[in-house]
Amino acid sequence: MNEHDMEKMACLLSSKGMDRTQDVNSADVVIVNTCCIREKAEQKFYSLMGRLKKIKRRKGLVLGVTGCIAQQEKDAIGEKLPFIDFSLGPSSIHRVAEAVDHASRKDRFFDFSDNGCTASLLVEPGNANKKFKTYVTIMKGCNNFCSYCIVPYVRGREVSRESSDIMREIENLSTLGIKEVTLLGQNVNSYNKGGDDISFPELLKGINAINGIERIRFVTSHPRDLSNELIECFGSLNKLCESIHLPFQSGSDRVLKLMNRGYTTEEYRKKVSLLRQRCADIAITADCIVGFPGESEDDFELTMGLVNDVRFDGLFSFAYSPRKFTAAANLPDEVSREMAFERLTRLQKYQKSITLECNKAMEGKVAEVLVEDRSKHSREEMTGRTRTNKIVNFQGSSDMIGSLVEVEIVKGYANSLKGEVRKPTGGRTC
Ligand code: SAM
Ligand code: SF4
Repeated sequence: MNEHDMEKMACLLSSKGMDRTQDVNSADVVIVNTCCIREKAEQKFYSLMGRLKKIKRRKGLVLGVTGCIAQQEKDAIGEKLPFIDFSLGPSSIHRVAEAVDHASRKDRFFDFSDNGCTASLLVEPGNANKKFKTYVTIMKGCNNFCSYCIVPYVRGREVSRESSDIMREIENLSTLGIKEVTLLGQNVNSYNKGGDDISFPELLKGINAINGIERIRFVTSHPRDLSNELIECFGSLNKLCESIHLPFQSGSDRVLKLMNRGYTTEEYRKKVSLLRQRCADIAITADCIVGFPGESEDDFELTMGLVNDVRFDGLFSFAYSPRKFTAAANLPDEVSREMAFERLTRLQKYQKSITLECNKAMEGKVAEVLVEDRSKHSREEMTGRTRTNKIVNFQGSSDMIGSLVEVEIVKGYANSLKGEVRKPTGGRTC
């Protein structure tokens, strides 16, 4: 989501004649787009700002801070970081060109206004980077208030974008060469919940009918809002990729309740089983938190048990990090940092073996790959992703970039697959 917000800001600034660079030494304007989901991201941000302060002093540049930390700190950020020139919350990024303009005239600019503002949702970055896949924001904010999470406080309540706007944007993207879209939102499957526009499964059906779009993904889904109708889409929509990111957060019902997640592990397991009944090859990934206040060794073993049973293709796991404003920050029975990280290491080690097992199970299968680029590791190799969102590296040439090729998987590694291009056979792909 942050990456896409950066694309939106880059697009808005390029329409004012500015070019994007990753090299801070050649930049006239530096924007630090921030995340405050975990404390570590916040610590990294402040140390980066220390370095940028020195660069600004040396060569002079316009320095702005956007995103969640900006929203969390609001006006205090101007005092905490007196050397910055502008700051915008996530709902104000559509004002970036105005902010740079003010800041260039030594007029500091701040906007952390209305979380309900939809203008930031409406920015369409197009296909400036000449890529073949991109994100499309369909909703923002979150109404769930999971007890550990700062998102509803810094990104506001859920607002869904008009389906007609989304469809128009994707139709336009397809004419610009985009083949794969990932629909973005904190909780995409509650898109338009309670509203009078179309539902999320209906939106998927509409996008599935757009010529030129070959692949559809979405992220992130809340297990509670994963309806049977949506599960059904994995069996019926040919462009919907066989992959879903479905965070479970904990394998213990007691902890899930404390987290205010709104489902039980039994309900979660049932949905996984329905997904696999409807789409046998679906790859399932998830997020999970360990060391939540009050998590006992037994609770943690339940998490390990769920991971053992579901056999996720991949897992993003985090040690719990207390966050400002959130209900969990006041819960008793803190788990020590040492214990949380010890559990995290155990979980990650176990998951690594499962991911390897899933990737090895692909050996001998044929997968459709959208070729994205040259591999970073070898000039002779190309890289792309399967519909199940796994990275595949294979011998090829750069004229393949942007095309869909059939690749036989010859080796499964912990983080990627190795493949060999073969002629289309019409055989089963995954
Ligand atoms: N909306 C998505 C959902 O409900 O799963 C995820 C949003 S959040 C940006 C991404 C992940 O960060 C969460 O799934 C959770 O695992 C993790 N996370 C959020 N708050 C956290 C905290 N205080 N400490 C550790 N991890 C956290
Ligand atoms: Fe945070 Fe929960 Fe909303 Fe996800 S659903 S963004 S974890 S509050």
